Amino acid sequence: MNHHCHWTGCEQQVPPKMWGCNRHWFMLPRELRAKIWATYVPGQEVTKQPSAEYLSAAREVRAWIADYITKSVAEREVVQSRLNGRNLKKVVLDDIGTPHLKED
Ligand SMILES: [Zn+2]
Repeated sequence: MNHHCHWTGCEQQVPPKMWGCNRHWFMLPRELRAKIWATYVPGQEVTKQPSAEYLSAAREVRAWIADYITKSVAEREVVQSRLNGRNLKKVVLDDIGTPHLKED
């Protein structure tokens, strides 16, 4: 069974009934998580026929993630330019787009 987290770029293996790994799942806004739960039909991972509602919720989640990553990158650039050589914390993105605070 090969089923990975649906976060853009995350390769973490998760059980088929899970949307994604814990770390990324809990980064989603509560309303989006509720939508996924509300539209998820047990067994859809077996039939491979998720409902139109689920697909629409999943699309919304992907759009949210794209927006989140874009904003994180913009924020990181602003922070870096403000620091300008000072030894303060800055935001860096790891290879799967998750922001972290890091000492310069
Ligand atoms: Zn993940």
